[in-house]
Amino acid sequence: MKDLLVMKFGGTSMGSAERIRSAADICASVHKERPAAVIVSAMSKVTDMLLEALRHAEGGDERGVDEMLARLDARHRECCQQLLDPPAQADTQPVLDDILSEFERIARGVLMLGERPPRSVDEAIAVGERLSSTLMAAHLQSRGIDAFALNAREVVVTDAVFGNASPLIEQTREKAANFLAPALQARRLPIITGFNGSTLDGRPTTLGRGGSDFSASILASVLDAGELWIWSDVDGIMSADPRLVSDAKVLNEITYREAAELAYNGAKVLHPRTLAPLMEKDIPVWSKNSFNLDAPGTRIVPETREGPIGPRAVTSMVNVALVTVDPASSAISGTRIMARSLEALATANAEVLALTSSSYRQNFCFLIRTAELPSVIENLEAAFSIELTHGYLHPIDVDLDVGLIAIVGEGMKGHPGLAGRIFTAISAQDVNIIAIAQGSSELTIGVVVRKSGVEKAVRAVHAECRLGA
Ligand code: ASP
Ligand code: MG
Repeated sequence: MKDLLVMKFGGTSMGSAERIRSAADICASVHKERPAAVIVSAMSKVTDMLLEALRHAEGGDERGVDEMLARLDARHRECCQQLLDPPAQADTQPVLDDILSEFERIARGVLMLGERPPRSVDEAIAVGERLSSTLMAAHLQSRGIDAFALNAREVVVTDAVFGNASPLIEQTREKAANFLAPALQARRLPIITGFNGSTLDGRPTTLGRGGSDFSASILASVLDAGELWIWSDVDGIMSADPRLVSDAKVLNEITYREAAELAYNGAKVLHPRTLAPLMEKDIPVWSKNSFNLDAPGTRIVPETREGPIGPRAVTSMVNVALVTVDPASSAISGTRIMARSLEALATANAEVLALTSSSYRQNFCFLIRTAELPSVIENLEAAFSIELTHGYLHPIDVDLDVGLIAIVGEGMKGHPGLAGRIFTAISAQDVNIIAIAQGSSELTIGVVVRKSGVEKAVRAVHAECRLGA
């Protein structure tokens, strides 16, 4: 459906009755013009609250569970009252009650077991989006629009990696063709839950935190949408985090590859996996601000018109760890050690943010997210238990006092001198460079520095490359 517009509203854009009303205004005016499908996040902080309730349950803290349930109930009840007139409230509140009692049933189960099976967690936390989509659909209906709430479980088919599932695109396409396309052709307006899906045999899954962006791109791709608009609370994708850099500016246009690199390296606007499903189809994406409709937003496209030479943006990440694997003896092959380390990382389901090796001794280091550290270490120690016991490998070293700066731009390719300027700018701030990574695509330069140097280095690179307004 080439004229279809898929829109996604993030948690802050769904955060209160007032915000849902503004989002509904946008939906209503778009829906008048063209067929649309809407994907929503849970109301802001609701997924965190659901997870906290489950943590209380696992820890046997019944009072904590009850308190969370009461807060979740109050938040959605209040929103329902503010958003709907009394007859519509009377129809909708029981639906919200049913959804929340499904969550309660799982939370009480976890409380009894003292354990949180990943599969039950996924079923439980998808409730946030079911509540918000119900509210939004009810509100649109009360304005006379033929909207309906849809649980993405019915459409988005995924593998069984609970908590971080990946879509099975062909199966999803088939379901979308059966469940969604007829409604869209009839100009109905589906309000679909972001974040969740289910396996082929119907077990509920989620796509990872912040995964509603990904839900939207999956659906845009399988529905052959004309465009995807992602509504959040910032004006678009910026040249740097404006909290760190005062003259950071909104980028009018960037490429899929640049946006994916920025997201992967810590920019918060888009979930890192969002762009992949759109790339083969060349579906353009807009990142827009539902709090500032006058701002044009950032357009993400396959290629930009004659982009500038040099980087487009700089991001940083501090919740990372630098892990070093260091052979103690030249009797073992460094290359084999590297291969086995990467195998262990894959088993741990960890993402390698940067990887470098340069020494004759063939020691090498890689950067991962701190959250993934425990399982990475466990898998590395298991893989190398013999070498570690016999001293063929030095103990695996973990440095937590590090941060990553990533400088991103298609325009860096083939231009000598940029890396030199970047390193000089960082050094001029008295920030020591611990590790460097640049792939041959020359799309991103990753620089690892001490945590205390991250902000200074971001500002220095931003200024040196004249990325600001
Ligand atoms: N509600 C989910 C989360 O907070 C998904 C999303 O908002 O994108 O992670
Ligand atoms: Mg989000």
